[in-house]
Amino acid sequence: MTDSNDPPTTATYTQFACIGAGFSGIGLGATLKLKHNITDIRIFEREAELGGTWHLNQYPGAACDIPSSLYTFSFAPCPQWTSTSLPTAPQIKSYLVSIAEKYSLLPGRITFCSSVQKCEWLPSPISRWRLTVLSHNAIFHHECQFLFSGTGILFHPKTSSFFSLPGAGSFSGTVMHSARWDHSVDLSNKKVMLFGNGCSASQIVPALLGRSNNAEVCSSERDYNVGKITQFVHSRHYVIPSLAELFPLALLERLPRGLQRLLCILIGEMDFIAMRENKVGRWIRRKKTEEVKRYMRETVPERYSDLVVPEGVEFGYKRRVYDPGYLRALHDERVELVGERVVEVVPEGVKTEGGRVVEGDVIVLATGFETNRFLEGVEVVGRGGERVGGPLGGGYGGGGGFPNFFMLAGPNSVTGHTSVIIAIENAITLAMNVIKPILSKGSKLREVEVTPEAERQWVSNVQDELNNKTIWGGGGNKAAAESWYVKLDEKTGKRWNAMLYPGYQLGAWYRARKPRKEDWVYQ
Ligand SMILES: Cc1cc2nc3c(=O)[nH]c(=O)nc-3n(C[C@H](O)[C@H](O)[C@H](O)COP(=O)(O)OP(=O)(O)OC[C@H]3O[C@@H](n4cnc5c(N)ncnc54)[C@H](O)[C@@H]3O)c2cc1C
Repeated sequence: MTDSNDPPTTATYTQFACIGAGFSGIGLGATLKLKHNITDIRIFEREAELGGTWHLNQYPGAACDIPSSLYTFSFAPCPQWTSTSLPTAPQIKSYLVSIAEKYSLLPGRITFCSSVQKCEWLPSPISRWRLTVLSHNAIFHHECQFLFSGTGILFHPKTSSFFSLPGAGSFSGTVMHSARWDHSVDLSNKKVMLFGNGCSASQIVPALLGRSNNAEVCSSERDYNVGKITQFVHSRHYVIPSLAELFPLALLERLPRGLQRLLCILIGEMDFIAMRENKVGRWIRRKKTEEVKRYMRETVPERYSDLVVPEGVEFGYKRRVYDPGYLRALHDERVELVGERVVEVVPEGVKTEGGRVVEGDVIVLATGFETNRFLEGVEVVGRGGERVGGPLGGGYGGGGGFPNFFMLAGPNSVTGHTSVIIAIENAITLAMNVIKPILSKGSKLREVEVTPEAERQWVSNVQDELNNKTIWGGGGNKAAAESWYVKLDEKTGKRWNAMLYPGYQLGAWYRARKPRKEDWVYQ
């Protein structure tokens, strides 16, 4: 699926431009057309196809783990999915392609195989962003009035812990990260060594064994006929019963679609109460911790209970895993869990700290993603040479010095307890409400940016809320510091959490509709 791929010789122009064609980029393009009747947009995508997360994560069992009614755009329910189904990666990707086609983004408005390298603000009277784009080994330039980034939050595979092991390059088989699955590798009767036991690994194990409890996965995945899975477990996660076991799904499905979505949103939002560092939050967490541990102990084989069931940490500090059949799959005789740390890679497999050599044909790294990093590889140069990024977590505000620039799924905008799509839509709504005075007929305004004071205040409030009023601050839970949401600056000892919005998404929804006028400067 390539589109408009010949690099132009002079700078092209569209009023809007976006980096990335995942949910953020496609959501922006569709909203512009649907709600503002604007089609003057170009989306630049590094890959040859759209979908972002759902184009890249095609590992066995890859599926979203929240009800599908929350994992679609609010304006485009997917008639093929029931409200509570958990669509697979290929299904989600097809959904995004259909949205791109419906809202005239395909063909023509997405430039594939094009990596945005640099975005530079050209000050008044030009008042435009100038993008430097690398496409098929050639550089070209594009200019726009409004620049959006939709470069993703879980994009860069975290592989350093494996590749820094002695002998990492010596393995004679295949090594792949879950987010870059190589489907040409035949797994039948092969010995797979799986690193990690978070969300992706918990989907991979039952899918490889043909034991997933996600109906969508069962109906679409082939039989991998895998010989053995040795899973190295170095951290523990709360694995909660699957959606089907938690909700009276049949009842929910009988309600009108809009009501189903609203109910799912409210149920999801209720989870946030347990993330608060207060009496009620602590009480719910205690109850949840006991309840989930009981479920896990009852479901896993006894011999793996100590390895898998979290101890000494409360429920909620890491994103919970909805059980896709993982715990039951551990009863399969083809699975072995190993708790010992891997200390070396050898040609035939890996060596553990106890000196055991585990032999295998394929190594799968389900080790997650680099977090707290945004706009990786893109140099954004604002007014007066100011750069996006800067010191730990700082300077990502899209504010002071960066006119007409908006980040979708940017720092502190998404939550772990509900859908990222809701957060993306909220960010688009906020940006369009801020831009509105410039777009209004006869307006002489050309630029808008957040005041430095509003940005400072916002960043400080967000970190304060997260550090002092939620579980991620570590109050009653030291393990919060280990959570992938939080980054610890080893030099200053400062904790920074750029991954989470510190409140209910309904609150963000309201704020997006009513941006505070005093926070924005127009010219
Ligand atoms: C395995 C997995 C499961 C998930 N499950 C859920 C779930 O159940 N529920 C949920 O709410 N969220 C889930 N997420 C989070 C998910 O990432 C978001 O829901 C959503 O897909 C993010 O969309 P996005 O468009 O912002 O980013 P992405 O989907 O990451 O897309 C970013 C795009 O930007 C492109 N890009 C990046 N840099 C450049 C550049 N310099 N130039 C050009 N293009 C560039 C990339 O190629 C990519 O296509 C999951 C994530 C993963 C990895």
